[in-house]
Amino acid sequence: MISVQEAEEKVLAAAIDLGTEEVLFMNTSGRVLAETIYADRPFPACDRSTMDGIAVKYADFEAGVRTFDIVGVQPAGHEPIAGNKCECVEVMTGAGVHASFDTVVRYEDISIANGKATININELKQGLAIHKRGADRNAGACLVESGTVVDAAVIAACATVGKTQLKVFRQPRITIISTGNELVEPDMPATDWQVRRSNPFMLGAVVEQRGIKPGYLHISDDEESLKTEMGRLLNSNDALLLTGGVSMGKFDHLPKVLEQLGVKCVFHKIRQRPGKPFYFGVQENGCTIFAFPGNPVSSFMCLHRYFLPWLKKSMQQEIVQVPYAVLTCDIQFKPALIYFVQVQLSYTATGVLMATPLEGHGSGDLANLLNTHAFMQLPEDRTQFLAGESFPVWAFKAF
Ligand code: AMP
Ligand code: MG
Repeated sequence: MISVQEAEEKVLAAAIDLGTEEVLFMNTSGRVLAETIYADRPFPACDRSTMDGIAVKYADFEAGVRTFDIVGVQPAGHEPIAGNKCECVEVMTGAGVHASFDTVVRYEDISIANGKATININELKQGLAIHKRGADRNAGACLVESGTVVDAAVIAACATVGKTQLKVFRQPRITIISTGNELVEPDMPATDWQVRRSNPFMLGAVVEQRGIKPGYLHISDDEESLKTEMGRLLNSNDALLLTGGVSMGKFDHLPKVLEQLGVKCVFHKIRQRPGKPFYFGVQENGCTIFAFPGNPVSSFMCLHRYFLPWLKKSMQQEIVQVPYAVLTCDIQFKPALIYFVQVQLSYTATGVLMATPLEGHGSGDLANLLNTHAFMQLPEDRTQFLAGESFPVWAFKAF
């Protein structure tokens, strides 16, 4: 059995190169950029009024001029109109301000009559209400670095620079497979000793949140079916997520079948709870196999702790350190395993992340996931963990 850290290292070392593809910018939310986005021109591209009002020369105001001849009305989107001494132009928000002016006075501070505008305030700041050309970014400046996850701000930046096709990292082809003859479909009645299969939909929901559309399949606990189906899937997927069939039971055929199909076992079993029987393997032509134990909490934990970091690395997304949270109460765990205890997260009034354990009834207690937000990783060399101590948390839910 290997440690959590070794397992993590081996999983990350097995990250794959997915290559890139071009996608319409508005369809890239959540994807990872594979190119850098630059400013095509200065931001903003001209001196721009931030108010509806009049553009004047500050020097006129300083010299005591208060009433100006209106020589034009300047809507947004039109070429700026110039003015001479003691002249002004009415400018709308977003309109270009001609270089012959340097200050904008809003309508609220002026009165207009007979083609003239009079400023009614006694103090004015030079440059007021003008957003200067290039103030935000220079032409050619890097706006978004390669490796960034596309979000609303990135999509807006791409639209504004006219970058409509984006190079993003390709997403892996994934199939999620359940095994277990005790499982029935969610829309079927179940006897008391049967279980509606829930793991593939739980894992799939997390994967689909990342914009990936996985395939789904159920295979019965029968060596021949497993071999036929797995043989086919190994050749048409970048990764397979399996649940069930990797423990010590009489019907846990998966490790043997995978070996027969030429999959190399990178490790099987980790010193952790839940998820001890997790199997991880790679196939020669590149398919990566995450075979999670069937208990729902085990599958869910292993997905977040091992598969998602692998996915991020394979899509060349920057891996950031997970946050630490402070235990709100003492907790005891005797086995010499890393304990991923489920916790509820909250912030104190001063912004400290706190974790309250809600242990539930073990890895089969799917309902406990409904009330928790994260797995807190407690070290294996201790049995007592005290209120006030901090440990890393792997969050799976917003709170
Ligand atoms: P296994 O890892 O196959 O020994 O399964 C461990 C436990 O998880 C058993 O109680 C299974 O019934 C349960 N289980 C396996 N797969 C699923 C699934 N897809 N949905 C819900 N429970 C499952
Ligand atoms: Mg099973």
